[in-house]
Amino acid sequence: MEQIDDQQIKADDRRYVLHSWSKQKAIHPSIIKKAEGIFFWDDSGKKFYDMSAQLVYLNVGHNHPKLMEEFKHIGDIPFASPGFATASTAELARKIIEVAPKNMAKVFFANGGADSNDHAIKIARMVTGRYKIFSRYRSYHGATFGAGNLSGENRRFAVEPGLPGFIKFETPHLYHEKIDFESEEAASDFYLDRLEHQILYEGPESIAAIFMETIPGSNGVLIPPKGYMEGVRALCTKYGILMICDEVMSGFGRTGKMFAVDHFNLEPDMMTFAKGVTCGYNPLGGVIVSSSIADYFDDHVLLTGLTYSGHTVSTQIGCATLDIYKNEHLVEHAAEMGHVLAERLEQLMRFASVGEVRHLGLFAAVELVKDKQTKEPLMGYGKDYGKDTEGLMKKFVGLLMEQGFYTYSHDSHVMIAPPLIISEQQIHEAMDLFELALIKFEKELFS
Ligand code: PLP
Repeated sequence: MEQIDDQQIKADDRRYVLHSWSKQKAIHPSIIKKAEGIFFWDDSGKKFYDMSAQLVYLNVGHNHPKLMEEFKHIGDIPFASPGFATASTAELARKIIEVAPKNMAKVFFANGGADSNDHAIKIARMVTGRYKIFSRYRSYHGATFGAGNLSGENRRFAVEPGLPGFIKFETPHLYHEKIDFESEEAASDFYLDRLEHQILYEGPESIAAIFMETIPGSNGVLIPPKGYMEGVRALCTKYGILMICDEVMSGFGRTGKMFAVDHFNLEPDMMTFAKGVTCGYNPLGGVIVSSSIADYFDDHVLLTGLTYSGHTVSTQIGCATLDIYKNEHLVEHAAEMGHVLAERLEQLMRFASVGEVRHLGLFAAVELVKDKQTKEPLMGYGKDYGKDTEGLMKKFVGLLMEQGFYTYSHDSHVMIAPPLIISEQQIHEAMDLFELALIKFEKELFS
């Protein structure tokens, strides 16, 4: 590569690169100059706590020595198209099945999250012979056409008018629900009853799959009420519908268990994954299918494919990544650190602008409100996406960045999902910075 200075990188970036989800004139990307563990440093020399693991994928942290070492062995396994059996692809598929729910049998490899979801849609249609796909509001499944149609929030608007047969139902979000349920179970019954009505109205015999982020991530870490996930499983079984759990963000230890589905008493028919399988050190995603789906394709053509399905470099990095989860006990560590983070998050409820905190393991969100009583969000949501007319979320995120707390925000919440290697002390340091930003924010907002 050419050696060019920071000024030139920024000039070329401005001139030649299109950045996602942004008005190009409104953004001024900085450069990450150095990164180590949970930290990175930008081109001004400022140090940041990476509290969204970039975009919730760098579970092993930046610059992990074992993965950097693995890159030196790239080329040991020759490039091979998907028609060949390769050591890394076979080993990674086996390793994934070993940690997946018991009914899971085989893996189809894709390039990332969105195309994994596209393939799960296709597989569901092939196996069931049905075409309708249910998915939820307040979900994000990716930016390709299929995954975009699954997504139940504003980032899908670019693929509208969408594909026929994609139907949305509600994600339980008790904080913003007008009904005051007497228990979580009662809330689950309510939402499940509505879902069953929708299934019956649409005609179960036409519905191939119900698609869900096990725990919706970028829409605010919405943890399902007790009994809800098992209830969806029961409805799927009752009507012969496949249950597909998108574990792209929540998988690989994020919630303190290997997959978020492991928190519930159920086995999905398919699971999609990406991010944490290589922690972003190389792009990779995939679909894990149950033994009955795997068996179906023994005698039926799997009518789909990708040039880079099971790319040897990505699967080699995937194998090394899964070894790190195991050898460094990262999933157990995430569960332990989750308790530390939970305590700090619950303490945030004393702030006037904090409406709700939600967390499971190291997967968390803080929802901000203008008024605790009315729960009025800080900025517009849904079709009013991006209408941060008063600039309040932008202001808060700016204050976080000023403190050196880097994270992702969407609508009126910010995510807290650091690399799983974070220590107890680092959680306290980062959350002290978060509180400082909140104090400054409230001084301006409420004084
Ligand atoms: N599914 C979920 C739950 C995600 O959070 C994302 C991305 O954030 C995707 C799918 C899409 O993944 P990718 O950006 O790798 O296509």
